[in-house]
Amino acid sequence: MTNNAGTSVDVIIAGAGIVGAAFAALLGRAGISIALIEATAAEPDKDKSVADPRVLAITRASEKILRKINIWDRIAGNRIGCFREMHVWDENGHGQIHFDSAAICESTLGYIIESRLIQDSLHAALSNMDTIKWYRPARPVLLEKYDDSVVLGLDDGRRLRSRLIVAADGSNSAVRELAGITLDSHDYRQSALVSVVTTEKPHGDIARQRFLSYGPLAFLPMAEPSRCGIVWSTRPEHAAELMNMDMGRFHLELESAFAGTLGRIISSGTRASFPLRRAQAEHYCQHRLALIGDSAHSVHPLAGQGVNLGLLDAATLAEIMIEARLKGRDAGAYSVLRRYERWRKGENYRMMMIFEGLKYLFESEACPVRWLRNTGMDIMDSVPVLKEWIMVQAMGLAGDLPASARGLS
Ligand SMILES: Cc1cc2nc3c(=O)[nH]c(=O)nc-3n(C[C@H](O)[C@H](O)[C@H](O)COP(=O)(O)OP(=O)(O)OC[C@H]3O[C@@H](n4cnc5c(N)ncnc54)[C@H](O)[C@@H]3O)c2cc1C
Repeated sequence: MTNNAGTSVDVIIAGAGIVGAAFAALLGRAGISIALIEATAAEPDKDKSVADPRVLAITRASEKILRKINIWDRIAGNRIGCFREMHVWDENGHGQIHFDSAAICESTLGYIIESRLIQDSLHAALSNMDTIKWYRPARPVLLEKYDDSVVLGLDDGRRLRSRLIVAADGSNSAVRELAGITLDSHDYRQSALVSVVTTEKPHGDIARQRFLSYGPLAFLPMAEPSRCGIVWSTRPEHAAELMNMDMGRFHLELESAFAGTLGRIISSGTRASFPLRRAQAEHYCQHRLALIGDSAHSVHPLAGQGVNLGLLDAATLAEIMIEARLKGRDAGAYSVLRRYERWRKGENYRMMMIFEGLKYLFESEACPVRWLRNTGMDIMDSVPVLKEWIMVQAMGLAGDLPASARGLS
């Protein structure tokens, strides 16, 4: 069955977060026409001097993808922190691990960047592409699939038609729901509180994470020597308490939870809190539809990998689609999209389970587990080969990567 209603484009993308916007840029530069739908309105008058409370650890693989779409230099010219070392330790014991990029002859293990800075840079790059047409603010409300096309109805009454729709509309994806794809989800009963703080002592380009009984507290080094983004995963009630604390008390709580490692907390910015869950969509694709980024999966932020996995989804799907087009194949056909699902779903699940294992290992109060993790950390810290393997994983350079994540054209 066919349908000819609505404006026609090659691909419809729902969601212009980091993953959707990067995917649009990868396709747009290959000459593929795109309708990009974003629920939020543009904010041209936003004060860019105020730090975004959300900072992201960005892997070397993601750097390569962002370089491929020519936005890395735009980001790097701004507030970007590098971490050369990583220090992880346990509140309840002596165990600790120290990773150093010098051990694998790399200048850095990764970057710390404000989420908004990456997103704004991507949006600026997209606004210069003739292949991209924005629909903003708009939300999908209707999805009709036919053999040779898909029709998406927006809440403003417009209708769009293409051979493929890609959902990049985040963990509560409306497109995933319209397509009837279920989500296997587990509530961690934790919330992550984020903010940007200034500390008495400089961070020295070291990413630090202290595992507390209720979850990890990370201090992520930003561009300025005494500025860190913090991610504090804890019980939802505790996160709510921290959100409502006056600044003085919040600083004291934070200093104490971090055992004064970076001295006093001098100042802090806006606080925000996010409920945490692990989730994986039952399917990453159907005929004429694919899910990427958080619409397909959500992971615990303790390893700072969510957006990095999403960028790998985007780069993989773009590579498969561009190759299909070059061969004259229908890039929205299930047989083509299934290759994407086979490539990414298992890999994302593997990473998800590693983070889950780490989470439970570090949060368990049982004496044998506590002993095991402290001893395990000490052993790991003394085995260079093991540490090198972990560093390569954390840099996103392991596994079956799409060409753009390997720095190939
Ligand atoms: C506390 C915390 C810390 C984190 N730290 C890291 C880290 O250090 N490193 C890392 O890699 N990851 C990290 N993550 C994970 C990361 O934030 C997410 O994986 C990432 O934001 C997902 O990007 P996305 O583009 O897929 O989805 P989103 O960022 O959720 O973007 C979705 C976009 O779609 C739009 N949208 C939503 N609904 C609709 C709709 N119905 N119609 C149209 N548009 C819609 C939204 O407005 C948004 O622009 C962290 C997460 C949390 C909670």
